[in-house]
Amino acid sequence: MLTIKNLLLKGKQALQSEIDSPQLEAEILLSLALGKNRSYLKAWPEREVSGEQADCFDHLVYKRSEGTPIAYLTGQREFWSRDFAVNPDVLIPRPETELLIEVALTLIPQITPFKVIDLGTGSGIIAITLAAEKPLIEVTAVDISSGALKTAQVNARTHQTDNITFIQSHWFDQIKACSFDLVVSNPPYIAPEDPHLLTGDLRFEPQNALIAANRGLGDIEEIAGKARSHLQPQGHLLIEHGYNQHHEVRAIFREFHYQNIHTYRDLSGHPRLTYGQWQS
Ligand code: GLN
Repeated sequence: MLTIKNLLLKGKQALQSEIDSPQLEAEILLSLALGKNRSYLKAWPEREVSGEQADCFDHLVYKRSEGTPIAYLTGQREFWSRDFAVNPDVLIPRPETELLIEVALTLIPQITPFKVIDLGTGSGIIAITLAAEKPLIEVTAVDISSGALKTAQVNARTHQTDNITFIQSHWFDQIKACSFDLVVSNPPYIAPEDPHLLTGDLRFEPQNALIAANRGLGDIEEIAGKARSHLQPQGHLLIEHGYNQHHEVRAIFREFHYQNIHTYRDLSGHPRLTYGQWQS
C-alpha cells in the first residue's frame, strides 16, 4: 500500500548507502512530492498517497541517490534565516559564509551613506542579506553568469530589497564606480586538482563558482589587486577563502599594501575570512 510510512521506509532504504541522514532526506523529499510539510508526514503515517505522488517521490529519491544535491531538488537553501532559491546555475549557500555577514555588518555604520560591492554574487545571499539588514546602504551585486544574476534577482524580489544594482561582469571589469566603502566576495578558491571536487555536492555545482587557477588563489589575487582602485580611502576588503589558505591570502593582502589585516575563524575553528583596509 502506498502509505506515507511505507514510502518513507522505501526512500530511506534507497538512500542509506549514499547519504548521511537518509530518514531526514526521505522526509524532505516526500514533503516536496506531496506539497506538505514534515509535520504532516509525522501526523498521518497511515495516509495513502496517489500513484502520481509516489512516482514523483521515487524520481526525487533516485536523483538524490545519484548525488544531486538536496538543495537543487528542493530549489531552496536557508541562509541567515532567509530562504534563497537555488539551482544548478549557482553555488549552494554554505553556513561558513554567515561569518562574512557577521563581520560585514560590524563594518557598516548606522546612518552614513555606505556603498558595498559583492563580487560573484551567485544566488545573491551576501548582497541580499546585507541589503536587507541595512536598508540604507547601496549594494552592487556582480556575477559573470547571467543564470546566477537571474537567480539573485528573483531572490532580491522575494526579500524585497530595492537597494541592490545587479551588473554582469567578470569581477571589476564592467564596474566604473571607484568609491566603494566595502568590497566583499566569496570567490572560487578550490584548486583545479583538488580531489574534493569529485565528491558530494561539489560534483553538481557550477565549476566556475568553485575552481580558481594558481592553487585556488588566482581570483582572490585578482580581486584584491583590482579592489584597490575601487575602494575609498579607509575602505574595507573582506574575502572568504579555503580553510588552509589564510597564510597565502594574508601574503597577497600585504603585497598589495592593505593594512590592519585580520583573519577570522568559522564555527568549526577554521581560518575562513580575511580582512584588509585600504589606506591610500
Ligand atoms: N556569493 C555566493 C555565495 O557566497 C556565490 C559564491 C560563489 O559562487 N563562489 O554563496
